[in-house]
Amino acid sequence: GLAVRLRAVIKTYENGVTALGPLDLDVAKGEFISLLGPSGCGKSTALRLIAGLGAPSAGTVSVSHRVNRADGRHPIGFVFQEPTLMPWASVRENVRLPLKLAHATAAEANSRIENALAQVGLSEFADAYPRELSGGMKMRVSLARALVTDPDILLLDEPFAALDEITRFRLNNDLLDLWRKLHKTVVFVTHSVFESVYLSQRVIVMTARPGRLASEFRIATVEP
Ligand code: ADP
Ligand code: ADP
Repeated sequence: GLAVRLRAVIKTYENGVTALGPLDLDVAKGEFISLLGPSGCGKSTALRLIAGLGAPSAGTVSVSHRVNRADGRHPIGFVFQEPTLMPWASVRENVRLPLKLAHATAAEANSRIENALAQVGLSEFADAYPRELSGGMKMRVSLARALVTDPDILLLDEPFAALDEITRFRLNNDLLDLWRKLHKTVVFVTHSVFESVYLSQRVIVMTARPGRLASEFRIATVEP
């Protein structure tokens, strides 16, 4: 089945800028796709629309929901380019944030947090503060915060763009391992051709302005 379905989606911002579309996009459940294109082509706009952050100006955005929100789950996890961590809160408390919105009990929340931190390799840093962490580790916290509600769909907006090459490559591999283990649908926004081809099963190439589908291709090497 489909996890995400966009039909003739257009986004025009209040200032009159048409940032996207018309864009048609289907993402299968469990698929790992990349949205690839130059800065300003509307990748983030597409991702935000999939996340339900803002409405399209025209067209339809459908996202599959099989989730009961009362058990600490949420259908979508979002990772921003900047880790956007609360500096006054520990790693554990940063990761807890989405659980407060997802109505998890304290016991449920604690077990989800420990699990998410283990998934990103940060169990030993639960009590650390963001300022004590490297860029790559902050991004891992951000990833844990997105995973903690056990979403069906993981949306990542150029998450590794600010990291050095080696850290970025490690995180690429860890993200692939997580995808293979957790069977999430992943939509990964990047302007790196390498990253899109290395990570995804399918690369959606967007035109510069306004963002439409220019072409797409399947990557035979990336398998679950
Ligand atoms: P990308 O992620 O590919 O860099 P964006 O989706 O961020 O592209 O932006 C696409 C276009 O929409 C750009 O021209 C950008 O300046 C514009 N844009 C993005 N967000 C807003 C906004 N909130 N208000 C007005 N224009 C915006
Ligand atoms: P395989 O399963 O065939 O060993 P890998 O997962 O190790 O494939 O990756 C394929 C190749 O691409 C490896 O040699 C890896 O080192 C290289 N590679 C992947 N990402 C990068 C990168 N960012 N910079 C340099 N080399 C990379």
